[in-house]
Amino acid sequence: MLPVVALVGRPNVGKSTLFNRLTRTRDALVADFPGLTRDRKYGQANYDGYQFIVIDTAGIHGDEEGVDAAMAGQSLRAIDEADVVLFMVDARDGITVADSALAEYLRKVDKKTYVVANKIDGIDAEVAQSDFFEMGLGDVYGIAAAHGRGVEQLLDKCFRPL
Ligand code: GDP
Ligand code: MG
Repeated sequence: MLPVVALVGRPNVGKSTLFNRLTRTRDALVADFPGLTRDRKYGQANYDGYQFIVIDTAGIHGDEEGVDAAMAGQSLRAIDEADVVLFMVDARDGITVADSALAEYLRKVDKKTYVVANKIDGIDAEVAQSDFFEMGLGDVYGIAAAHGRGVEQLLDKCFRPL
């Protein structure tokens, strides 16, 4: 069984960009994974020598109602299915209300979670990353999903101890 990595976070932080980078092709979808839905996308990643299943989610705000609540449910299910959760935030935005809501949830569940501050290209990565320590989820890993910066280091951190 390959380890399962879930990409969660509010919309627009770069989850799908990272998913596409990790899976490289759009036809890397894992069709026989149980519970495949429109809102959770499964792919097989082979990156930097690491093989794993990666789940892309539609995004979660923390205050959803109606259709949004169903979407949020998908994120929670992805967290449940995962061995490792990559909680993605936007390094340029600092902590938003939605980030705080998801952080609160992730602090309660017993899941190996890494905070990933995306979009560190063109900004002071250290300053941007340090903001997110306040969420109480440990170290913050800066990446630029669009360019690949920091992704290998992140995966080394996720998988070396497994
Ligand atoms: P999602 O809603 O979390 O899946 O986010 P997307 O992957 O769709 O990305 C949202 C936006 O952020 C898109 O316009 C991406 O091009 C942009 N984006 C993603 N990764 C990066 C990055 O590393 N740097 C910058 N500058 N923009 C990024
Ligand atoms: Mg997306």
